[in-house]
Amino acid sequence: MSETKKDEQIENNEKKKESESSKTKFTFKCTRCDKCCLSRGPIPITAWDLQLWAHNKVVANFLPYLDIQEIPSGGIDLILKPIVPPKSGNDDEASNTPSPFRQVPIEDLLGAKCSMYNEEQKKCLIYENRPLSCRTYPLEFDGNSFTIVDEECPGIGEEGMTKEDLKEMRDIAKTMFLELARMRISLPVLYQVLSKTFMMDLMKQQMEVMSNMSEEDRAKLDEIMKKNQDNEHEHEH
Ligand code: SF4
Ligand code: SF4
Repeated sequence: MSETKKDEQIENNEKKKESESSKTKFTFKCTRCDKCCLSRGPIPITAWDLQLWAHNKVVANFLPYLDIQEIPSGGIDLILKPIVPPKSGNDDEASNTPSPFRQVPIEDLLGAKCSMYNEEQKKCLIYENRPLSCRTYPLEFDGNSFTIVDEECPGIGEEGMTKEDLKEMRDIAKTMFLELARMRISLPVLYQVLSKTFMMDLMKQQMEVMSNMSEEDRAKLDEIMKKNQDNEHEHEH
C-alpha cells in the first residue's frame, strides 16, 4: 500500500472513531426552557415523592391534584394530574375552565400542561418539591438500559455535564425505576383492600340507618319497595 493510501486509511479510521464516540456520548444540561412542563401529561408519583412532601409538610397541598390512572400493562399509577385541556367546539365557557377535579378520559390528558406550572411567571411552583420523575427527565431506566424519552428536549447535547453529573442523573433514573416498580406492586393491593373496607363501611352505615328507623318509617319504606317491585314485574310482562 502506498504511503498516501496508508495516511488516508488512518485518517478515515480516526474520523470513524470520532463519530462513534460522539454518537454514544450523552451530554445534557437543562436549559430551563420549561417545554416539558407545558406538555408532560400525567406525572407518576412514587413513595419517594410522598416521603419528601411529608417531610416538608406539604402533602395536603397536593391531594386535590392526585389521581389514579390505569396503565397499558394493566396496573395503576398514582399521578399528578395535569390541567385539563380546554375542549374545542360548542362547549360553553364554564366547561372550558381548566379544573383538576373534572373527570376526563386519560387520553385527553396526555401531553397536557402540568398543573404545577405557572405560565405567567414561567416557573414550576413546587420546584423544591418536584417529583422524582421531573428530576430524571428526559432520562429513563428500564431495568436494563437508559433511554431518552424526549429527543426534542433542548437540554440534550448541551455541553457542561461532568462525569459526576451523569452518574447522579443515572442514579436518579435508577431510583425512579425501582420506586415506580414498588408503587406498581403495592398500589393495586392497597386499592383492593381500601375499596373492600369502604364498601363494608357503607353497608354498615346503611344497616345502622335501617335499625334506627321508626316502625312507621319502616312500613313506608316497605310500601315504596313493594311498589317498585310491582312496577318492575309489570314492565317484564
Ligand atoms: S428537561 Fe429539557 S425540555 Fe425540560 S426544561 Fe429542561 S431542557 Fe427544557
Ligand atoms: S412538577 Fe414542576 S418541574 Fe415537574 S413538570 Fe410540573 S412544573 Fe415542570
